[in-house]
This record gives sequence, structure tokens and C-alpha cells, in this order.
Amino acid sequence: MNNKIWLSSPHMGGNELNYINEAFEANWVAPLGPNVDGFENDLKVFLNNDVEVAALSSGTAALHLALIQCDVKFGDEVICQSLTFSASANPIAYLGATPVFVDSEFETWNMCPEALETAILERLKLGKRVKAIIVVHLYGMPAKMDELCSIASKYNIPVIEDAAEALGSNYKGKLCGTFGRFGVLSFNGNKIITTSGGGALVCTNQLDKNKTIFLSTQARDEAPHYQHSEIGYNYRMSNVSAGIGRGQMEVLVNRIDSRREMFQFYSRIFSKIEGVNLHAAPNADFYSNHWLTAITLNPEICKISPEKLRLYLASKNIECRPIWKPMHLQPVFATSPYYGTNNSEDLFNTGLCLPSGSNLTDSDRNRIEEALFEVLSK
Ligand SMILES: *Cc1c(COP(=O)(O)O)cnc(C)c1O
Repeated sequence: MNNKIWLSSPHMGGNELNYINEAFEANWVAPLGPNVDGFENDLKVFLNNDVEVAALSSGTAALHLALIQCDVKFGDEVICQSLTFSASANPIAYLGATPVFVDSEFETWNMCPEALETAILERLKLGKRVKAIIVVHLYGMPAKMDELCSIASKYNIPVIEDAAEALGSNYKGKLCGTFGRFGVLSFNGNKIITTSGGGALVCTNQLDKNKTIFLSTQARDEAPHYQHSEIGYNYRMSNVSAGIGRGQMEVLVNRIDSRREMFQFYSRIFSKIEGVNLHAAPNADFYSNHWLTAITLNPEICKISPEKLRLYLASKNIECRPIWKPMHLQPVFATSPYYGTNNSEDLFNTGLCLPSGSNLTDSDRNRIEEALFEVLSK
């Protein structure tokens, strides 16, 4: 059997172990230390220096702390893109708040501005407290931030950007993760860079960063003994994980280039196969890191369903993944309100994510290309 071609797997740069060794030699094996400070600074510089970054144990933790700082409490509502990974929505439920799901538009596959405004107007009319809007940049594709942010500010609701998949993407030259009151990054194993598990909260100012660190380290008041006036969390990134992150930051730009080359590779293939549409940038305002290349199959032209295609490629030891199943269709969120039509459902039903790793070889690409032509060009 051929080696397995993964959807997206970790890709070390080479220096990660040096940073980890430094941590061991200085015995900084704790959720603080020089690698944590260094990694935060690397991210801040990468994000153009006008933000503050707090390194945390996961992207999910970052979302949780963002919601807390947007004052989300029991009984409040938070608007959230429906077409996303469940981690975007779960922290809303941690706080006893209700997620209100909003549909996607077909150009970017992200939150539809019209559906967002409809949702806000109706929730406000019902007397609900809408405390935040979680916008996702799916698979690295920036959402329509001008439209979404202007609606959010019209109603004075803070935006939390879930940029977990979009480190290095930008919209009109502004990097994803730097638009909202908060931005969320993830360094889980299959993201564009990894710390084996980790995340970060991008803050607009030093006070928010301080508060984030305070909450992530059990909310200790300033006192010689352990004193607490608020509920705290154990969400800080460890100095060992941050060492991996520092090594990964040295190669982030290369990783973005490689992912974007994977997208070009698929563009060439599907220019020769009818009925397959790529999740492509609508115009030059949108610059995707193409963390994952996704496609939709036109059911009238393609003789194969996305699930059959996935299984066929799996039989060739090539891993693909369905599009995220929209949150409003998930049993766990069955009672949550939803605004939109069937766009996200259509994308789920017709779409598929293709292997997109930065570490795929020419021989991997040949295997993928051969398999796609075999099954789709009939
Ligand atoms: C990965 C991911 C998260 C969560 O990040 P973790 O670090 O795995 O907790 C949140 N939102 C989206 C869209 C993601 O892809």
C-alpha cells in the first residue's frame, strides 16, 4: 500500500527542538517563560505590531475568554456563523448563552451580511441581548469584513473573529484576526502552523491582553497569598508548546506559500474537469492562506457524489474531509435560532476538502491528480 496522504498534517521547520531544548535547559517547563513571551512577540510582529497577543492552550479557550470579555452571560445571545467547526459555537454554551446561527453567502462561504442584519433586527425586536458576533474565515478565506463590521458597528455589537484557520490571510491588505474586538488563532495539529495544541487571543490593547492572561491563569488577585475575586481558568500556553510555535513562526511564510501552491495545483486540475468549483477568492480584495482547498461538485454535471469521491480517494489512501456540517443542523444545537436560507446546507451537501498539507511531495501530488482524473473525468 502507498503511504497515506493526509488532509493536513504537522510540518516542522527544524528549529522547534532547539527552542524546546532551551526550555528544558533553563527548566522553564511551565505555562510561562521566554518561549511564551517570544512566541507572542513573533505573532504580534507578524500581525503588523498594532495588536497584543496572548498565547493560550487552545483556540477554543481563546474564544471562551473573548466571550467573557465581551460580557457574555447566562441568557444572553451570541450570533455565530453556522458553517464552521463546533469549537466556534461551544464556548457560547459554556457561558449559558444561546448561539444564534447565521447562514453563509456563496462567494466566500462565510457569514452572509444580509442574513446577519436580519438576525440582529429580529433578535433585538424580541428583546434579546445580543452581546457578540462570531465571524469565521473558513478554510482561510476572509469573510466580507467591510460589510460585516459596518453592520456590527451600526448596532454596536463587538465582532470576535474566529481566524483559527486563517493565520496569514488578509482582506484588503489587513490581516485576518486584526479586524474584531478580539481575534482567535489556533495551533492545533492540523492547522497551518502548530504547537501540537494551542491557541492565541489577539487583543486590540494591552489592557485586554493583561485581562486575558489574568483569566487564563486562575484570576489571581495581587496578594502574597492566593486570593480570588473572579472565576479563573487554566488556559495559558506552556513554554514547551510555545517553543514549537517559535520554530513554526520561522517558516510560516513558506507554509502559506505551499498551501497556496496546493490551491494552484488543484486549479490546474479542475480547469480540465467539468462540474467542479473551487473555493476561490471572489476578487483581489480577498487573500486566502488556503489552509484547506475545498471544492463543490455540481450534481448535474458530476456523476459522483462528494461522499463517493471521498470514499474512492480513501480507497487510494488519500484522506479528504466533508465540509463542516452547519451548526444549525447539529443535534446539540437543534433548539438554537437560525437565520438564512439553505446556502450552508448546499455547501455541506456538495462540498469536499482535499489534501492541502504544505508537506506533500510531487509523488503525492501525482497520486492525487491521477486519482481525481480517474474518477471525475469519465
Ligand atoms: C481549529 C478551530 C477552532 C478551535 O481551535 P482549537 O485550538 O482546536 O481549540 C475554532 N474554530 C475553527 C474554525 C477551527 O478550525
